[in-house]
Amino acid sequence: MKPDLFEAPDYYNLDELLTDEHKLVRTAAREWVKRDVSPIIEDYAQKAEFPTQIIKGLAEIGAFGPYIPHEYGGAGLDQISYGLIMQEIERGDSGVRSTASVQSSLVMYPIWKYGNEEQRLKYLPKLASGEWMGCFGLTEPDHGSNPGGMVTNFKDMGDHYLLNGAKMWISNAPFAQVAVVWAKNEEGRIHGLIVERGMEGFSTPETHNKWSLRASATGELIFDNVKVPKENLLPNKSGLGAPLGCLDSARFGIAWGAIGAAMDCYDTALRYSKERMQFGKPIGQFQLQQKKLAEMITEITKAQLLAWKLGVMRNNGTATSAQISMAKRNNVDMAINIAREARQMLGGMGISGEYSIMRHSMNLESVITYEGTHDIHLLITGMDVTGLNAFK
Ligand SMILES: Cc1cc2nc3c(=O)[nH]c(=O)nc-3n(C[C@H](O)[C@H](O)[C@H](O)COP(=O)(O)OP(=O)(O)OC[C@H]3O[C@@H](n4cnc5c(N)ncnc54)[C@H](O)[C@@H]3O)c2cc1C
Repeated sequence: MKPDLFEAPDYYNLDELLTDEHKLVRTAAREWVKRDVSPIIEDYAQKAEFPTQIIKGLAEIGAFGPYIPHEYGGAGLDQISYGLIMQEIERGDSGVRSTASVQSSLVMYPIWKYGNEEQRLKYLPKLASGEWMGCFGLTEPDHGSNPGGMVTNFKDMGDHYLLNGAKMWISNAPFAQVAVVWAKNEEGRIHGLIVERGMEGFSTPETHNKWSLRASATGELIFDNVKVPKENLLPNKSGLGAPLGCLDSARFGIAWGAIGAAMDCYDTALRYSKERMQFGKPIGQFQLQQKKLAEMITEITKAQLLAWKLGVMRNNGTATSAQISMAKRNNVDMAINIAREARQMLGGMGISGEYSIMRHSMNLESVITYEGTHDIHLLITGMDVTGLNAFK
């Protein structure tokens, strides 16, 4: 792969909106990605393997639990810092960002928000340091966009719960030590349970043959009469709102992460357009290529503003789920379109692993699907503005 020459576009001087702490956090993440991710990521994506050696570095830049308080091992940062870390990591690879998002927003967040103090102290410091990795089991073979229909269930056996069912498309599943699993009790109410690797009847087969997020490990979670200790139930929230609360946090991170992927594609295409000569000129001198670049930087700038304002609203606790849906949907769509245009600008080289664009393009096919598909987020916005529910 080519050396990582990335220079971040900031067409509207949006850095003026950031604090010194935001910039420090971003610089640390950016330098780490250049040093430890860019040189190896193409190989790992080609091999369809998650590079486990980067776990320690992810922990060191604060990517595991950026906004979880220090007392539990988190970085104690605000939401904009969290977003900037996700942006920088996804600039390197969406699969690596997925691993960090799952660990922070889908595993640490529910333990922090819905768990008791014993659970927080037992799990969060180890998850923050990367000593333990986690996964989040919501999607099932027959219930994706409609998770409320889940059939995974647990029965109260007196001194323990008995868990049965299956989850699929679970990021980090093949290597996670801890799984936050959503299942229905005998009354049909959804609860979160912490399931640990090694519990009898619990297995995590890997999902192979993906053309997307190849550097992120994906698998199933199978529960065959798993005895889960009663103290592993998350006591402080139940119902579908509990997993959806985690998704709000993860979708916010994706809205920022997608900007990273888009910036990398734009920056690569811009540089290439000045170097690649055809018909005796750099291709960047042709109006058709300039149109692509001008539209890319316009869309990136709009997405940056959306993400920043959403970060302000997350910081003061006013962002609604529907507002988060809009940013996730817009920014991922923006990134996938930019990846496609940038790939064309590189001609044949656009499909080569010499450059990052094709990998981003394929990765974004998962990002536009998981954590609520593109169409589902549109329906959420539609429901919010009309007050009418299209899901019923
Ligand atoms: C690489 C990868 C990693 C993932 N990681 C995780 C994870 O860690 N944990 C986890 O729990 N899940 C994870 N997922 C699952 C992901 O969240 C689901 O794939 C997603 O929610 C969509 O569900 P589905 O695939 O079952 O599609 P479906 O729900 O079957 O949807 C198929 C199509 O129908 C459309 N559709 C569905 N309902 C409606 C409707 N009411 N109106 C209009 N259109 C509709 C959808 O938009 C979509 O286009 C991951 C997925 C991928 C691909």
